[in-house]
Order: sequence, then structure tokens, then C-alpha cells
Amino acid sequence: MNLKKCEFWFIAGSQDLYGDETLKQVAEHARIMADEFNKDPLIAGTVVLKPTAVTPSGIRSLFEEATACASCTGIITWMHTFSPSKMWIHGLAVNRKPILHLHTQYNRDIPWASIDMDFMNLNQSAHGDREHGHIHARMRLPRKIVAGFWQDSELRRRIGVWMRAAAAKQDGMNSVVLRLGDNMREVAVTEGDKVEAQIRLGWQVNTWGIGELADRYAKISGERAEKLAQEYAGSYELAPELKQAGKARDAMLEQAKIEIALKEMLEKENAGAFTTTFQDLHGLPQLPGLAAQRLMEQGYGFGAEGDWKQSMLTRCAKVMASGLAGGVSFMEDYTYHFEPGNEAALGAHMLEVCPSIAEGKPRIEVHPLGIGGKADPARMVFNAAPRSAVLATLIDLGSHFRMIVNEIETIKIKNDMPKLPVARALWKPHPNIYESAEAWILCGGTHHSVYSTALTAEYFRDWAQMCGVEFVLIDKNTNVNRLQDELRWSAPYYE
Ligand code: MN
Repeated sequence: MNLKKCEFWFIAGSQDLYGDETLKQVAEHARIMADEFNKDPLIAGTVVLKPTAVTPSGIRSLFEEATACASCTGIITWMHTFSPSKMWIHGLAVNRKPILHLHTQYNRDIPWASIDMDFMNLNQSAHGDREHGHIHARMRLPRKIVAGFWQDSELRRRIGVWMRAAAAKQDGMNSVVLRLGDNMREVAVTEGDKVEAQIRLGWQVNTWGIGELADRYAKISGERAEKLAQEYAGSYELAPELKQAGKARDAMLEQAKIEIALKEMLEKENAGAFTTTFQDLHGLPQLPGLAAQRLMEQGYGFGAEGDWKQSMLTRCAKVMASGLAGGVSFMEDYTYHFEPGNEAALGAHMLEVCPSIAEGKPRIEVHPLGIGGKADPARMVFNAAPRSAVLATLIDLGSHFRMIVNEIETIKIKNDMPKLPVARALWKPHPNIYESAEAWILCGGTHHSVYSTALTAEYFRDWAQMCGVEFVLIDKNTNVNRLQDELRWSAPYYE
């Protein structure tokens, strides 16, 4: 996704009391800042400068225009001077776009020798932004506040994170989650309120029959599958038996046909994410393994066993991570290593882990799958690259959605696991494996999650904040007893 297509309207606030000369300088400073922001790769979207906001009707019109503008992804406000914030009430009341309140000033240093009251009146964001912050607090509006000097890279990094989160929110407003089959029978955590998801997050979560995919699959020609297999050979390692005609290669070609057919369906429905379930594969020869991995690599969200929340969250993370180093994948907690001093968790899935998180070149192999009762599926096998990462999940508590994020360190897998031919990741969670698990379970977090080495908790926090989703972070400072209290304290807020 090209995030530069996302516009972020930059609105400097003032009032007409100061006179034309001051307003001219405000506009000029804002223009210089917008231009400089747009030259910085940390600023993910495009900053679009708007006229200085000086009247209630002008402010209201600007927010109405933003709401109607499809490419406007968020709004950055900054009070260069004092802008009485009752003027902002009508505008903020109609606003539907995420807001970042930038608290900065044009000059870095106080000009000690020349400073006078004119300078003070022009450069008074320390004063004006407090008035501006008050009206957001008074109206209970979510926003990200970023304070610092506008040329500072840490400030720009934080603006960039928020922009990426806003782009994911915007993408969600237009996204269809294509569900093939329903939720895995009797599973609670992958269920949820799809109507609420659409009201709150914009996600259109709908079902299509597996038969439609099976029909499309049956119509994909052998030549098209062979052509895609050439692409596989160029991008990945192929197990020796896959390089020659035979049963194993046929299994890979079947996955190629599933990939082509599924992609056709996703494009037709304008879907950004999809789910499958091994309990409903009627008409397909295999569980989509390699096909799901390939589509995730192309930016689609994926959730297994009908898990539409994690599927769309994977998509959100893919949008946020556009162009960043590192990867994003659907993930599942599988099993633990409890050796004292060397504790770790092994994550994988039956098949469907995205190669964007791989260390080295993934290898396509074909092996039996002991679940689902279908033919041996082709899949990519690899170890996840060791790096700092996060696990994020979204659950439905009935009253509201909760996001849980755990900071983890993915470590090198030193042992071969010849009998486990799936993609896998081995990690040490913060604060440690036991407290991380206790905290995650206390929060009600699912075994499914989104794994990312490209993103940090801050991206998910920003996204949750702008979507009105509860956010719980499990990191090195987490204390399970305190977390339990915090969850109790915040419950009335959400319920
Ligand atoms: Mn699963």
C-alpha cells in the first residue's frame, strides 16, 4: 500500500484578533513545516496544509470537508498562537477523522536578546495548545498528543506511527473480510459481534460459500498453475521431489490453483482479508496452506478456523507496516519450552504463517496433515528471523473489543525439528514466560494473534485509541496483580 496517498490535513489554529501580519507569519511557518515534514521519510503520509483556522464557521467547514474527503486520513492540529477553543466545538463535534494534536513551536530557542511581547504573542503554542487540549478533554475526544520540537526526528517518528495507524483505520473502513465457511465449531474466542465490528471499525465481515472457491479452483488451467510454480521456484527453495513431475509437485500445483482462485475472489469482492476453516473444505483437495501464506505475503489478512478478527487485524498490521523492514504474520501460540533459564514459547500454525517474517529463503514442502481429512498440503517451511517483535490480538468481550499486545524477543532456533515441517517462531515474552502467559490469559486473549517484527506496541496503541478499542500492554513492566486491578478499574468505563 502506498501510504503517501493518505492525506493528513495540517491545521494551524489562531484567531483574527492578532491582525494580518501575525496571521501571515503563522501561515508561512505552517507552510514551511508542512513542506519539511513531506521531505522526511519518517512521515508516512502526505501532509496537506489547510488555511489557518480563525473562526467557528471556518473551522466547522474544514472538518465537514475532511469528513467528506475520502483521501483525508487524519487531521493534525497545532495552535501557533492562541485559538479560543469554543470556536472548535462545532468542528470537532462533526469530525470523523483521527486527530493528532501537535504541540510544538516554530522556533527552537528563545531569542534572548531580541524577545519582546510581539514575539511572545506570535509564538505562544505553550499557551494556545493548552486551551486546545482542554476542549478535546472536555468533549472526551480520542487523540494522540505529540509534544516536541518539529525538526526533531523522535517527534516525526511518533507522527509517522500515528499516520500508519490512521491509514490502517481508513483501510478498515473500506475493507471486506471474506469468510469461507464459519467459525470452527464450539470455539469461543474466535467468535464475535460482526455488527459491532462494522459499526466501530468499519469492517464488513461476510460469508461466501466454499463451493464458489471450489468452482473457481476447478476452472484454473494447468498452465496458469505451472506459470505460478515458476514464480515459486524463483522466490523460494523447492524440496527435491517438487522439482519433478509426481504427486508432491501436483500438490504444490493444487495450492497454486487455490491461490489464483482465492485471489480472484478477493479481488472481485474488494476484500482485504479472508478466513478459512479446515472443517469446511468441500470441493477443495487440500487445506489452503501455501496459498494462504502467499496471499498474506501479498498484503492480505488471514485468519484460520474462521477467526475474522485476527484476519482483519493482520491486514491492519500489514497496512501499518507498509514499506517498513520486518514482517507481519498470523500466528498461534503452540507449545512451551520450560527448561529453567532457557524458557521460550514456540509459535506456528498448522500451515499458515507468512514468509515476510522468515529468516532466509522459505522452502516449499509437501507433508501429510493430521487434521481435516484432506490430501497432503504444500506449505512453506522456515524459522522466523530473530528480532524484537510484538504479538497483538483482538477479542470481543460482549461489551467491547479489547486488544492485547505482548512485547517479545524472537530468538534463534538452534535445534532442528525434522518432524515438524511447518513455519515456526521461538520467542521469549516480556516480562517473562510465566507472567506473560498469566497476564494474557487473565485478559482473555486468544491463542491466535498477529505477529510483527516491523511494528511496535505504539502502532497498535494508536490504532486502538482512534478506534475506541481497549488496549492492554504486556511488557517488561507488567505486574499481573496490578494488571488485574487495572482491568477492574477500567471495566466500568467500557461496560
Ligand atoms: Mn488455529
